[in-house]
Amino acid sequence: MLTLITGANGFIATHCIATLLRAGHSIRGTVRSAEKATATLSALNAAGVPHLETSLDLVVVPDPTDLAQFLPAAAGCDAILHLASAFTYDAEPGQFEERLLRPAIQGTRVACEAAKQCGSVKKLVIMSSFAAVYDAALGLQPGKVYTEEDWSPLGYAEGRDTDNVAVAYRASKVLAERTAWTYIKENDVDFQLVTLCPGMVFGKMIHPISSLKYLNASNGIVWEVAKGGNEIPPTKAPVWVDVQDLAETCLRALTVDLPSHQRFLVTEGPYDTQEIADVVREDIPAASKRVAVGSPGARIRDMHYSCDSGKVKRMLGLRFRDLRESIVPLVEQLYAMEEGERKDGLSAAVL
Ligand code: NDP
Repeated sequence: MLTLITGANGFIATHCIATLLRAGHSIRGTVRSAEKATATLSALNAAGVPHLETSLDLVVVPDPTDLAQFLPAAAGCDAILHLASAFTYDAEPGQFEERLLRPAIQGTRVACEAAKQCGSVKKLVIMSSFAAVYDAALGLQPGKVYTEEDWSPLGYAEGRDTDNVAVAYRASKVLAERTAWTYIKENDVDFQLVTLCPGMVFGKMIHPISSLKYLNASNGIVWEVAKGGNEIPPTKAPVWVDVQDLAETCLRALTVDLPSHQRFLVTEGPYDTQEIADVVREDIPAASKRVAVGSPGARIRDMHYSCDSGKVKRMLGLRFRDLRESIVPLVEQLYAMEEGERKDGLSAAVL
């Protein structure tokens, strides 16, 4: 089975590549430059991912929102796993349309169009987000249980005109996902659509990352706690899933026979920053010296909404690992990166 993975150099995408290659699949991955292709290959190699030479082909698609550039990459593929989208809070008001909304929406439309035009594509799996599900404006909503039936009400103008980048990101995800569902309603397609809506994704990284400065947004939440300080930062989006479990979810979404198009909520459960602090202080000696103590054992889960991920577990036969298993290896990796950067800084100062 040949799968096209868009945004192949990203945090989640590289885990999807590793999982699919281990399962014996062939992959074509899109990246936006030749440098990113080289860096991705070398990062996957360093992570011990098998079959890179025989089963992974990285192709440069400078603008994956351009159908003419995307189509040749999709040609002959059995499936598309679409991940490329800007998950960043590094954009200013006035830039949201260009930096977040347009790439997400247009990128999804092009993935749908390419899947239709190719003919060979039987599954299109799109990485949406819990951001496309919940209504942040309603606050914490204790007792509310989100399911696949829920949709964020954010519209285009709200995403474009807000002065809050998190609102713009959430709008980009819901509008992109709606684009896909509208596309299959309005077009006669031969492929099945699966959208995945994960909470915050944590876990050890195998993608190319040259410095902690470039940490992806979700692992940045863990780092904000683990790097230490006088206080534990507030919890922003309190549901999560591990990156390897999400990659396994992608593999099953691509391969399991499903009765129809599907939308899946993908979360292990709630987390909060106090829990991150507790776990890393318990398991990592270096963390116990620098991470704020806060109120050990205190949890905010009864104070906010929760999610029901029963559907994805049932239909795709999954179980998800717990927070400790996910973030301890990540924080060990982050401390090692920090130490490497400190040593590099020292040797640069000596030179
Ligand atoms: P990364 O930032 O690690 O990867 C993002 C990928 O998208 C990169 O390949 C990047 O390419 C590409 N990309 C960024 N901006 C654009 C653009 N304007 N046009 C085309 N491609 C672009 O993010 P993640 O791995 O965390 O996220 C992958 C997907 O999962 C995204 O769709 C994200 O919204 C979704 N998601 C992530 C969650 C998380 O917690 N991490 C939670 C829920 C959903 P380049 O390096 O060239 O910029």
